[in-house]
Amino acid sequence: MTRVIFLGPPGAGKGTQAKTLADDLNIPHISTGDILRQALSDQTPLGVKAQSYMDKGELVPDKLMEEMVQERLSQVDTKSGWILDGFPRTVNQAVFLEELLRKLNQHDEKVVNLEVPDEIVVTRLLERGRKDDSKEVILRRLEVYRSQTAPLIDFYSSRHNLLSVNGNQSLEEVTVELKKVIAS
Ligand code: AMP
Repeated sequence: MTRVIFLGPPGAGKGTQAKTLADDLNIPHISTGDILRQALSDQTPLGVKAQSYMDKGELVPDKLMEEMVQERLSQVDTKSGWILDGFPRTVNQAVFLEELLRKLNQHDEKVVNLEVPDEIVVTRLLERGRKDDSKEVILRRLEVYRSQTAPLIDFYSSRHNLLSVNGNQSLEEVTVELKKVIAS
């Protein structure tokens, strides 16, 4: 049974790696960013509420995200495991998730941090830039990561379940290392 929380700055290659691993293990890849983008394009109430935050590179309020993740992790396909990509993004979300996983009796997750140096992240983000992303939004997203999400590294380190992988290697090398770490 594989349950993985994937941490790392925007531009670390988290999404690509999470998808590859999930396909490989035949478990759902749960990307909160993807779910929000889908909600936005479907113009659901959640999508409408989330839009202004996403457009600015800000975080969508915890409450909305927590409801969304609780609903997703209660669906039947998650019984075989999951890879969570993009959640938690705040310490509040992490505390919520811990409690939720305890309730769902799924509290044996691994937490993997994909480490990439700051300069590389900025370069990659500016290169990749989704077409609706201005440089300003990209830089804001990074700032939000540093102030609100990076503290999760200490949060999980202090619980002794943080695994680190060097994300500054080729895509294939990162995948190999991730597979090793997850299987250990
Ligand atoms: P991502 O594709 O993971 O980079 O997410 C895109 C955008 O969705 C982020 O910039 C946030 O506005 C929003 N988002 C995704 N996941 C979360 C989360 N866990 N908490 C708050 N906002 C989120």
